[in-house]
Amino acid sequence: MKKIFPECSRRNFLKTIGIAGAGSICNPFSSLAEPTDLKAAMPTRPFGKTGIDVPIIGFGTSLDISLSTLLLKQAVKLGVTYWDTATSYMGGRSEKGIGKYFGKFPEDRKKIFLVTKSNAWTLNGMTRDLEKSLERMKTDYIDLFFAHGIKKKGSLDDDLKEWAEKTKKEGKIRSFGFSTHNNMEECLLKASSLSWIDGIMFSYNFRLMHNKNMKKAVDACAKSGIGLTAMKTQGGGQIGAGTEAELKLAGHFLKKGYTEFQAKLKAVLENPHISSICSEMPNTTILMSNVAAALDKTKLSDRDRNELRQYAVKTSSNYCAGCSSICESAVRNRAPVGDVMRYLMYCRSYKERGRAVDGFKKIPEKIRMQLTELNYEEAEQKCPRELAIGKLMREAVQELG
Ligand code: SF4
Repeated sequence: MKKIFPECSRRNFLKTIGIAGAGSICNPFSSLAEPTDLKAAMPTRPFGKTGIDVPIIGFGTSLDISLSTLLLKQAVKLGVTYWDTATSYMGGRSEKGIGKYFGKFPEDRKKIFLVTKSNAWTLNGMTRDLEKSLERMKTDYIDLFFAHGIKKKGSLDDDLKEWAEKTKKEGKIRSFGFSTHNNMEECLLKASSLSWIDGIMFSYNFRLMHNKNMKKAVDACAKSGIGLTAMKTQGGGQIGAGTEAELKLAGHFLKKGYTEFQAKLKAVLENPHISSICSEMPNTTILMSNVAAALDKTKLSDRDRNELRQYAVKTSSNYCAGCSSICESAVRNRAPVGDVMRYLMYCRSYKERGRAVDGFKKIPEKIRMQLTELNYEEAEQKCPRELAIGKLMREAVQELG
């Protein structure tokens, strides 16, 4: 079996390919083919019924991409030509960075499957955001436009359908869909009955993939021809990393020649219904690590899958699954537990404190002020993953407030 990273020690791997993108300690790619060879081999999958094939690894750009023109060029060379952004990312600097790239390399626009999102929550607001996105990214069209962060199936209504169809006819977007972190199974199942949803980006990882409702929802979408993009594939949770269970998992995969991060990507890609993984890649090390995982033909063994599954079970109460209709209905004023848990995850697992604080600040002040006073006992009893919701909410207020 070809090792992805045969030259590095386990310790150096963890430092080199850490989620936080720590500086390189050794060169893990010294034995890999040159990037041009890697590009030729980047696998693609059809994106639902759109007729477009997309690379199985997509570039998440929730970062200040204006400083990363060379990184984007490297991504194109490696075949990472699915780019995901949003009007809101980094206060617009993500989209502006992509615009700067297209200004410099206009010939690359047609190579890119460009995705952006609006969280305006009104039709007029989405139109305004779309115009802004087109202008910022110096393009005439968006390949896939998402309503950002759909939380309930009722949001997928006829008004949204009309907007999507009209905007497609105008040629400003080529396909339409939504992203979702909350109550995903319900939203995906509803979407599978709607002919006007072309694509969905949702949290999907080794923790969520075994849930029977999730399996049913993914299968239904695939059957309806909806392209599916997985995000949050590392399954990072609200409780800090570095536990014994995590080190054991890392050790298991390093012995096989790849990192646990790569193993988690492979686990997601084993589902043929997932067209692409959206992964944030703030530096070349992580870009190359993801590309290596996509190109490596080694399949996970039953033992590998079992290791991931055991780890998921052991650390289940470290991870919020976004089923917020369960806990929020059990808290006064429907405090946004699911959102707060996600911001904690950005801060603690992704080490993206700025993003976490920005999201937290968007919760209306009146609700934010109450978060430490509310009684979460009933919500904790109902939470299927037995999260210590009250404690985590108080910690979030302290860390992000
Ligand atoms: S806290 Fe529990 S019930 Fe609420 S969204 Fe997270 S996993 Fe679901």
